[in-house]
Amino acid sequence: MDYSELVHLQREYFKSGATLCVEGRKKVLQRVLDMLGENKQLLSDAIYKDLHRDGILEVEKTMEEAALGIKKLDEWVKPTPFTIAEDRFTVGEDELFIVPEPLGVVLVISPWNYPCICSAPFISALTAGNTVILKPSEIGEHFADAIHSIAEKYLDKKIFAVVKGGIPETTELLKQHFDHICYTGNPQVARVIMSAAAKNLTPVTLELGGKNPVLIAESADLTDAAKKIVIGKVANCGQICLAPDYIITTPKMKQALVTELVKAVEEYGDLKSNPENARIVNQRHFDRIGALVEKSQGKLLYKYDGEADREDKFFPPQILEVNQGDLLLKEEIFGPVLPILEVNSFDEAIRYIQDHDKPLGAYVFTKCECEAEKFIKHTSSGGVSVNDVMIHGSTRLMPFGGVGNSGMGRIKCEWGFKTFTHEKPVVVRNKLGPQVKKLVGFEN
Ligand code: NAD
Repeated sequence: MDYSELVHLQREYFKSGATLCVEGRKKVLQRVLDMLGENKQLLSDAIYKDLHRDGILEVEKTMEEAALGIKKLDEWVKPTPFTIAEDRFTVGEDELFIVPEPLGVVLVISPWNYPCICSAPFISALTAGNTVILKPSEIGEHFADAIHSIAEKYLDKKIFAVVKGGIPETTELLKQHFDHICYTGNPQVARVIMSAAAKNLTPVTLELGGKNPVLIAESADLTDAAKKIVIGKVANCGQICLAPDYIITTPKMKQALVTELVKAVEEYGDLKSNPENARIVNQRHFDRIGALVEKSQGKLLYKYDGEADREDKFFPPQILEVNQGDLLLKEEIFGPVLPILEVNSFDEAIRYIQDHDKPLGAYVFTKCECEAEKFIKHTSSGGVSVNDVMIHGSTRLMPFGGVGNSGMGRIKCEWGFKTFTHEKPVVVRNKLGPQVKKLVGFEN
């Protein structure tokens, strides 16, 4: 496996300037829309085979990114005039502007848990005028096969190519020189990606996970909180980067909260026979979650009535009370297990969150404005939802990304476009400005 030819092909195409054409980019995005739209069922079936859940909504959400690109591209590619024309070095007749310039050949590496939507940075990279190689996760093998087979039917590999494979193939790919790498996955592998990128000074966007806390304040509406937390742990079997990882609350709230959480889980009915209820993705992850529970020193407060089934990869939801330092508070769980940690006060909970790695999402349930404000100001995370979980990640036009251990850089909508763009400052002198402005697209 030698990927140098593919990268060379894409780089030559990029250098030809063909991807600069805005109408051409819209055509590419339209092909992406056709590819996803005409193969919605095929992709959804593949996701079902990998994860035992429907994937239609995920494919549709991914299509929205391409549709938005088509709609907004004229606006996004417009150079921005810089109005402070006169300073120590420039004079009135000089023209100053910022030109959004595509970067070149981009590598997008995606995970298995939401294989389609987590691949969507490839759409932002194409919108920004780059060529892209997408490497889907080998763990979601059916999705990887499906996207690989349709990509070559819809788009020329000099613009967009899908490379299948696992660690050996990714390692080989990373030996190539890319102009940007966008990796979605776990923080351990992110270190491998970043050090490979460092060799060529390639910028990286890292979309990672972490331990997303849910702080339940003493004023919280527990029924509402429990329902929302349970959705986050049951949907996709808790395998969501923004899923609530653990609860932190005071002794006064714990028992009533557990009662509500149990009610909320039981409302799902028979989780095992429900054909829409996702499974743990594979037996390795099933064993990993099982080992976390087994080695935890926590006290089991609730276990869903149904045995864990390794063959079927069904893992019953459970709630444990844990102490600081417990294994369940160390690793990202990424499964339907919910630890609860007791602290003495709201402030102590904030302190606990501050003392640990910055998560991708942080959640607080409270009826008190001051507590909400304190939480927003004094905890650092990729994003916050107040009186809900995960919702800040689902809003259409807001940026998405982590901070610290949960990642770096932004994806989605215009933020994604900018991630794969160099904003190039340009000064044109000797009265050549107006002509140049026409050429670079002010008149688009
Ligand atoms: P994974 O195992 O599928 O790995 C992700 C990608 O990295 C795959 O394409 C895989 O082939 C590649 N990879 C794995 N090991 C590698 C290595 N040693 N060298 C080079 N490439 C390698 O997925 P995962 O990491 O299990 O995914 C789950 C993690 O992703 C969780 O931590 C989750 O929170 C995070 N996640 C984050 C987001 C986000 O948007 N921030 C979204 C989804 C998942």
